[in-house]
Amino acid sequence: MTSSPQPPHLALELLDWFDREGRDWPWRHTRDRWVVLVSEVCSQQTQIARAAVFIEAILDRFPQPADLARAELGELLVLWQGLGYPRRARNLWLTAQRLVELGGWPDDYTELPGVGPYTDAALRCFADEEPIVPPDINTRRVLARCFPEGPPVAADYPLLAERAWHWGSAVMELGQTACRARALCDMCPVRELCPSAGTEEVIASPRQKSYAGSMRQRRGALLRAITDHGHGDFGEDVEAAETLIKDGLARQGGDDGELLLPP
Ligand code: SF4
Repeated sequence: MTSSPQPPHLALELLDWFDREGRDWPWRHTRDRWVVLVSEVCSQQTQIARAAVFIEAILDRFPQPADLARAELGELLVLWQGLGYPRRARNLWLTAQRLVELGGWPDDYTELPGVGPYTDAALRCFADEEPIVPPDINTRRVLARCFPEGPPVAADYPLLAERAWHWGSAVMELGQTACRARALCDMCPVRELCPSAGTEEVIASPRQKSYAGSMRQRRGALLRAITDHGHGDFGEDVEAAETLIKDGLARQGGDDGELLLPP
């Protein structure tokens, strides 16, 4: 009798650690594509712990794509307030409509508005349990540090295909906790096995432009006024107002041309 080759010890340790200590987010209890998509879209460019409350509120109000497709974008934008990067909300709303039009999910998820290679891979791993580790900055960093010669792949190790969801989640979890840009090797569950333990230089995060005074802040302030009060003053910041209209996140209406939520 031949047995399947086992993945490297470090990969097995990482899986064991995730089984024991992986964080218990609600979306980890399901393989529902809509839940996975909402959680992924909300957590892009946002720390997962901060996004969690928004994910819960959005899924509570829109448990299925059809629920969001029937709603006005403005209702989603109100729930989105505080999460930032509202183009994501519009893409999610357009995706809900597309899913209803199609009557289900397309084979190629990148046909959906706002779904790029990362979100496609996340759906394949976390919903469909395909043996893909979604390639974001966290997972790339973990794999490069733990397996400098190249990560173990499911084609060589059937266990990684059988446990595809766990493997993708474990790598992601380590990148969000111990193996951050500034590696916290002392608290890392695989430090005894990791060839990079204690050797990683601080990798600076890409510098973000200052938020204060940025167009992002100005758009955010205007959108907050509309979602809080139902209308905003177009003339208060014409440039920001025009970008919101162009992105389909607001419209001009009413007698005095106020800025309103989109239909
Ligand atoms: S030991 Fe350090 S470099 Fe290696 S995986 Fe853990 S945190 Fe990352």
